[in-house]
Amino acid sequence: MKPAYITKTGKKKRKVKTPLQKMHDKCWAMAKKVVYLRDHGQCQRCFKRVEGANAHTSHTFPKSTHAALKYNLLNLTLICYHDHINWWHKNPVESGKWIRETYPKRMAIIEKIARCRSYRVDDLQEILEELQAEYERLKYGNS
Ligand SMILES: [Zn+2]
Repeated sequence: MKPAYITKTGKKKRKVKTPLQKMHDKCWAMAKKVVYLRDHGQCQRCFKRVEGANAHTSHTFPKSTHAALKYNLLNLTLICYHDHINWWHKNPVESGKWIRETYPKRMAIIEKIARCRSYRVDDLQEILEELQAEYERLKYGNS
């Protein structure tokens, strides 16, 4: 749980992010950029072009139960707002079947990865660097 940022006198203080939280934010921002490029800016279900708030990055295995896959690109899919909120999260059986049929290789790999993981700042630094390298590879084509 997040600590409550309330002073002794009951006044609310501005929330200050810890270095760890900041690194999580950076990793997530970079993971989204990579997924967006990899998935060509298109919803992988309906293939409509997505931008801004309509571009959702969906976790196949939720980060709540599979912390280790939080920034794993094989666990992430670009999907439109509608398909993410009104379809993916509301039809877990159907969407589970869809993701297995659409990405059988990805699923085979990520199912074998242990679910649990806690992150330290230096773990996240490493993840961020890997994501940045992947982003540059996709963007500039240096493989
Ligand atoms: Zn869609």
